[in-house]
Amino acid sequence: MNPTTSAASSSGSGIPPSVLQPSALEILPSRASSIAEAGKAGGPLNCGKTSVAGSVSQRACVFCGSRVVLYPIADALHIVHGPIGCAAYTWDIRGSQSSGPQLFRNSFSTDMQELDVVYGGEKKLERALLQLIAKHQPKAAFVYGTCIVGLIGDDVGAVCKRVAAVTGIPVLSVASEGFKGTKKDGYRAACEAVFHLIGTGDTTGISPYSLNLMGDFNIAGESWVVRGYLERMGVEVVATITGDGRVDAIRRCHGAKLNLVQCSGSMTHLAKKMQEVYGVPFKRVSFFGIEDMSAALYDVAKHFGSPELMEKAREVVREEVAKIYPQLRTWREDLKGKKAAIYVGGAFKAFSLVRALRTLGMRTALVGTQTGDASDYETLREMCDPGTIIVDDSNPIELAKFCLEQDVDLFIGGVKERPIAYKLGIGFCDHNHERKECLAGFEGMANFAREVHASVMSPVWNFVPRRATRKAEGLKPEGLKSVEPDLACGPQSAITNLKSAIVRAVA
Ligand code: SF4
Repeated sequence: MNPTTSAASSSGSGIPPSVLQPSALEILPSRASSIAEAGKAGGPLNCGKTSVAGSVSQRACVFCGSRVVLYPIADALHIVHGPIGCAAYTWDIRGSQSSGPQLFRNSFSTDMQELDVVYGGEKKLERALLQLIAKHQPKAAFVYGTCIVGLIGDDVGAVCKRVAAVTGIPVLSVASEGFKGTKKDGYRAACEAVFHLIGTGDTTGISPYSLNLMGDFNIAGESWVVRGYLERMGVEVVATITGDGRVDAIRRCHGAKLNLVQCSGSMTHLAKKMQEVYGVPFKRVSFFGIEDMSAALYDVAKHFGSPELMEKAREVVREEVAKIYPQLRTWREDLKGKKAAIYVGGAFKAFSLVRALRTLGMRTALVGTQTGDASDYETLREMCDPGTIIVDDSNPIELAKFCLEQDVDLFIGGVKERPIAYKLGIGFCDHNHERKECLAGFEGMANFAREVHASVMSPVWNFVPRRATRKAEGLKPEGLKSVEPDLACGPQSAITNLKSAIVRAVA
């Protein structure tokens, strides 16, 4: 179908003709300072701010940030105080695993209605908490404030105190009203809430070689994989705070000798507080990719200053790399020179992915995060190849534009990026919390490489018009013979094509 015809015939859809022009997919001028190019001079990236009005940000709200962090505490009750829609962020759209209790998989909500907004929702919340605690006997309860609760001014803290006094368990208010900042503010609110639990348990018997895992969400059992490596080294894991978490373990985790922070965006605030109050130092690490996973184990051994631990760390790395390397080399042969786009929540994951893609012979052409800070983006500028686009708090139009301009072969992102990739005819790899496959550790690297290889090398991409026209005429897939030349020859046309697809969808 000719995109021009498609646009013209869509006038009945009510979309103004100007919206259908390619220029409508240009970036907003106010977003320009949040985008940079590696290898080009420029000041610090504009980041860490609330999203620009008119830019449909890929970020989630403050409440979602809190919920992501606290939800994997499996034996706690999690209740969303707000309209039912907020509770759509349930366990079942995320892949955090529990080795025991499954209470966290229930999505409880006070389901606030019009009358609650007019007369206040405190009584309803109190009733809900008392009923749910009596029924499920949780070890603690977290109450998440949402936008409407912030607007009407319910005193959630007072309700929590009353319920805690009656039930005898910690009932913690999470100040996560959706509108009051960025997803990062939600992480902070979660850290503040969980900090009330820390320091309330007995630390007797904790090993001098011990640590807490922070910011690993046990997606598809990843915390168990990392825990396995650490235990083979002889290191005790006291608490996995954000993955397969347990209230009792968190209560005594101030007795650990180190905090290992994997998702720095979400957990650095808590790690800093624990350092300040309990003197527990922390290290920022990543468990994704061979280089970063190995570095994390070596960092732990170095921290404890034990040659024996270091030797064991080397042994683990040697054994694990030997298992996966031959296969990685085979995949690398096929993937050499392919290009990828990365859009993820935190910067540390982005760093790891840039390195992991290099291990596979691939180049990162676009990299962005939801919560990176200025120094993170500086690091990305230094580590990426010249020409790589670096972007903070992006939106679908920008991501589509850069993916097409850079002509990437793969998009690595989450549930919100998947449709962008598929609409553009680009392979996709899910690296967010929704996935059900372990991508951490050495075995995770093998899984990642397998998935990347399968996605990038799939013959289906040969049928994408812009790709098909680059092939010799004889190789052109049969079904594309009727494609209009301007539909099939490059990024700008592809943008028009994308807009036509949007128009068709709307019509
Ligand atoms: S933005 Fe507000 S209303 Fe929307 S999900 Fe977040 S807390 Fe709920």
